[in-house]
Amino acid sequence: MTAVRLANPLLEPASRSLPRHVAVIGAGTIGPDIAYYLKSAVPGLRLTLVDIRQEAIDAAAARLREYADKAVARGKLAAPEAEALLRDLDGATDYDAVGGCDWVLEAATEDLALKRRIFADVEARVAEDAMITSNTSSLPAARIFAGLKHPGRATVTHFFAPAWRNPVVEVIDWARADPALVAWLRRFFAATGKVPLATADAPCFMLDRVFDNWCNEAAMLLECATAAEIDSVAGEFVHAGPFFVLNLAHGNPIIVETNTLQAGEEGDHYLPAPIFRSVECWATCAPGRPVAVAEATRARIRDRLLGVLLSQTVDILDRGIGEAADLDLGCRAALGFKRGPLELMDALGDAETSRLLERLSRERPGMPVAKRPLAAYPPRWRHVLVDDLGDVRVITLRRPEALNALHDEMTGEILDAIRAGEHDAGIAGFVLTGYGTKAFCAGADIGRFPSMLGDAGASVQYARACSRLLVHLDAMRKPVVAALNGMALGGGFELAMRCHALVAVKGAWMQLPEVTLGILPAIGAMVVPYRRWPGAAAVFHGMLVRAERLGAERAHELGIVDALAEDLDALFAQALARAHALAGRVEPIPDAPVAVPEFDAAPARAADGRVLSATVVGVIEQAVRAAAAAPTLAAALEVGYEAFGRVACTAAAREGIAAFLERRQPDFGATG
Ligand code: NAD
Repeated sequence: MTAVRLANPLLEPASRSLPRHVAVIGAGTIGPDIAYYLKSAVPGLRLTLVDIRQEAIDAAAARLREYADKAVARGKLAAPEAEALLRDLDGATDYDAVGGCDWVLEAATEDLALKRRIFADVEARVAEDAMITSNTSSLPAARIFAGLKHPGRATVTHFFAPAWRNPVVEVIDWARADPALVAWLRRFFAATGKVPLATADAPCFMLDRVFDNWCNEAAMLLECATAAEIDSVAGEFVHAGPFFVLNLAHGNPIIVETNTLQAGEEGDHYLPAPIFRSVECWATCAPGRPVAVAEATRARIRDRLLGVLLSQTVDILDRGIGEAADLDLGCRAALGFKRGPLELMDALGDAETSRLLERLSRERPGMPVAKRPLAAYPPRWRHVLVDDLGDVRVITLRRPEALNALHDEMTGEILDAIRAGEHDAGIAGFVLTGYGTKAFCAGADIGRFPSMLGDAGASVQYARACSRLLVHLDAMRKPVVAALNGMALGGGFELAMRCHALVAVKGAWMQLPEVTLGILPAIGAMVVPYRRWPGAAAVFHGMLVRAERLGAERAHELGIVDALAEDLDALFAQALARAHALAGRVEPIPDAPVAVPEFDAAPARAADGRVLSATVVGVIEQAVRAAAAAPTLAAALEVGYEAFGRVACTAAAREGIAAFLERRQPDFGATG
């Protein structure tokens, strides 16, 4: 029996302290990358690389040095930080070196008997409460840890290449694992920039079932197409085709082993394509440079690749191996899919999904088919996590690949989660927070806006539509508290300022960067702060027309942030306390007009010196003044939407958005 897991791992208080000494066993392909991540994640960590080959240890040490040097050259690390990262790093060919470790992470060759021997050797040397985890790609925890005396402290933590950068780690929640261990590992990974996904203990877990079978199917298709043709067709769904990815891992990572394991357990349809045993480098095309493919061949490749993807998806969900939203996120973030399989299923529709699954099972008998109606598979929530902590519902914005930026679907989900709880007598209030430690919410996706440039009416309508969650918050009786776990930018800050209280972790910050893009924050930032915190009007002037940052500490002094927290545990505790304190006492945003100070007459420049558009700055200033004088909040908000319509018709907005899409600096000198 597994314990109920909180969807947001950071809501779980830490049950043990950070590791002080970790051993990574296996200094081959992935071990050193995991070591680099751990050394970057835990300052002052001592790390020992253990391998039976001294040359592997030496090569690993050189690789870590190379990574650190590159990070310094690219300005991602300061030289002293790089030196600190490389300190307390040693290597050993003798298992006695793991003796004092509080975490031993095994990343040695994929071989059941070998791993079992390693764990016996490790357990004989470490303390009873030291954690033991394996990076196996495929071998179930129940098998590799079967011989342990204390299996509760052991599980699989499955990283994806390149492990220092790829955010995803599967954490296997197997029958004998202590639930506190699984909770701590998920929390640790989430707190150090990773995206942990909890999965069941099936062979190959969740994501490698998708990846290995996707690649295996691609190899099967070589009977009717070339690797370059198959990669070209796959390019519709993935950033890099299967053969291109296989080449990065020298032809065949371990599909022969993993698919043989699956075939042994689940049937011959999983047998690895024989060609894997004889190819080390596939002749294929690079991503973005597809070759021409005849229509009939394209249709066949597309059907089979999609078929195997969908077949794995329904199987994973039917067997409860992972959660639907996690599967989508993992496929995007770890495997390079452009859309998750459930998003694809949605886009394909039921009839086409059924056709693809039927074709696959005809051509590849034994491959899993849907066991439930297709409508049963999509996740309840795709972009938010919903946890009830007692009588407070915590809604976590989770789009780690976009720093939790809002888009229409996410906004809709937040609203749905709130509406569902508003009418539930067991829910006293809500907390909104962001996934991870970096961002509460980095703004809103640019979405459909580029197509509206030049169309004032459509832009006004768009701003109004984007406000539906915020207007709902304005009218709520149950409290919603924003828990700022990191930066809140643009639309993210506009969302936070409509919550009934804000709490923030120290170091969090807020910014309204729209003016640097030649546009303006249309859904409340030119209106709400002036009515809610009139004493901080000058600060908001600077944020709106110069994109000045506001740190959480200063925001606390100004009364914008109600409480500051030392760390995330304190943040969530304070957010819950605020939600309780505000129950039955939610104050609406003042409706009456308000006086605002003059804007200073300085030239249009951002706080960092960049030249801004004088036209856009003018529209913002005028809108702030008009909104402040508007008779009601609703009328003031309309002023903001209308101003957005005006800005959308300026040359500056066109230039700003074009520059954003082209990843260059805008030239507002030319547009005015
Ligand atoms: P690898 O073959 O590149 O490296 C394995 C290392 O383990 C070698 O340096 C070898 O000398 C060492 N080793 C072998 N026996 C040992 C022992 N008894 N004690 C200490 N060291 C020993 O393999 P890899 O690709 O780094 O994979 C390691 C593990 O990680 C495997 O279980 C693999 O399935 C898993 N994994 C790999 C990747 C990847 O991208 N490479 C991704 C996810 C999971």
